[in-house]
Amino acid sequence: MASVWVGRRSRNAAVFVSRCTLFIAVLLLPLEARAFVRGTTSWTDGKPLSWSSGCVVLAVGDPQSDLVSWDQLTDAARAAAATWTEAAAACGGFQLVVEKAGGPLDAARGDGVNAVIFRSTGYCQQGCDPLSLAITWLYYDGDGRMHEADIEINGEAYQWDADIDGGTALYDLQTGIAHELGHLLGLAHNCYEEMGLPRPVDDQGVPAVICDPAATEVHASIMYPSDEPSADRRALSADDVRGICAIYPSGLDPTCQGGLTPDGGCCAIAPRVDSKRTFVECLAGVLFVLAALRRRRRS
Ligand SMILES: [Zn+2]
Repeated sequence: MASVWVGRRSRNAAVFVSRCTLFIAVLLLPLEARAFVRGTTSWTDGKPLSWSSGCVVLAVGDPQSDLVSWDQLTDAARAAAATWTEAAAACGGFQLVVEKAGGPLDAARGDGVNAVIFRSTGYCQQGCDPLSLAITWLYYDGDGRMHEADIEINGEAYQWDADIDGGTALYDLQTGIAHELGHLLGLAHNCYEEMGLPRPVDDQGVPAVICDPAATEVHASIMYPSDEPSADRRALSADDVRGICAIYPSGLDPTCQGGLTPDGGCCAIAPRVDSKRTFVECLAGVLFVLAALRRRRRS
């Protein structure tokens, strides 16, 4: 599930010295520089997922919720998108643009709209774990080129906090959206969750670390399936930045992909008929419940 870097041996002394220097430099890298895992078209022998151009437009639907306003949801999505866009500006220059949709968005589907949907009711209508915190649907062709992604947030089972200062609710909206945007951009969870699926390989070409006992620097990634999505997890780690920079190098076509309504609007693209679809469930909710049960058993 990740690219593997392969080098060639050389007899050239200068190159050897250069490589030794590089090796020492690698040893001196901060501990937090570990690895990232890319999303792929399938669990085994899949092709890595990415967008073909350097800009994606996200449409935020009216949540029609008493707990989260449309403005709050849009602001949280804009802030999360800005986090990734600013990180990418230092390397490839990928841009995430967030706008309000034409109204409520009631379904995640291949309609040319990269939807952000907050569900107060009806979460998991298309089949997913009702205890997942959120889910990202990815639409792509056989080569792993994405042309649409929809994010659904589980406002039915969990209370989300849109307060920029944190507040008292369990889950921070900006943090949750930032994590889902990582999936939308083509990143998978940065560790192995041991849920019966094949173990992914990270960008270093080795099996991803196991999530639960993973080191602190692994927990620091926004792509860690955390059971504590609090407001202090909004920032990206060095691995998150390396991930987006590796997936989106400089020189990409800056054309934006995605419409604001299924009928068109800014930058609309036609739905693809040859599309495949997959989804990434974020099971932090399940992990949270399991953690709570473990704590209860211990007490
Ligand atoms: Zn996730």
